[in-house]
Amino acid sequence: MSVHEQFAEDLALLALGSLQGDQRAAVEQHLAGCPSCRRELEQLRGDMSLLALSTAGPKPPARAKERLMSAIANQPRAQRSESPPVPWWAVLGWAAAAAMIIMVALLWQQNQTLEQHVANLSAELKQQQAELANAREVVATLTRPDAVVTVVTANTRPQPQGKAFYVRDQARLVFIASNLPQLPPQKAYELWLIPANGKAPVPAGVFKPDVRGSAAVINPPLPVGVEPKAFAMTIEPEQGSSTPTMPIVMVGAGE
Ligand SMILES: [Zn+2]
Repeated sequence: MSVHEQFAEDLALLALGSLQGDQRAAVEQHLAGCPSCRRELEQLRGDMSLLALSTAGPKPPARAKERLMSAIANQPRAQRSESPPVPWWAVLGWAAAAAMIIMVALLWQQNQTLEQHVANLSAELKQQQAELANAREVVATLTRPDAVVTVVTANTRPQPQGKAFYVRDQARLVFIASNLPQLPPQKAYELWLIPANGKAPVPAGVFKPDVRGSAAVINPPLPVGVEPKAFAMTIEPEQGSSTPTMPIVMVGAGE
């Protein structure tokens, strides 16, 4: 028996990570000076991972399993002449190692599934972030007071006007106004959603225009699903009112 064969079982144990103490130190010392045992160890480690994968895959690589099992089986026979029989706890050690391999395989499978989930989620997130960035840009453009230019007939004074962008089933509202007359002190404009069903006007945001008369209301709190007959604007106290104060200064119905 060559000096390398002496280490064959220890190599298998080392590959499984269950060799400890003096035995391990002795094997590692031998490995440091023996390329052929290092190759054997690498091969055993490769076999071990193949074996782990094989319980998850459709075709177990029989050769890897054979190699590993014969590496394990051969050595006790060779040692029988000099060493005492393999004690019962050594068998238990192999059972534990086998259980470990199966567990590793299951964890690996689970990990693959989780990784797929994470990949899907991150793709979805990227898509949503891109959509959000686009939406933000559009809103930023629409709501910059200095970006609003009203095109009117030459020699006509720009008229006050407002546009409401309303998504009923999500209760989303963006209202943009331009050329609004300046307000008296302690007053503000208030926007109203006038329901088609004849119910009371719903407050849809209190706002003041800037020095150019531009203003924007973005997503004021609104009940979901109100069918609008029109949007209207009144002048109210700064804190807003719960019912519109006449007269209505601007009104517009949907097309
Ligand atoms: Zn060797």
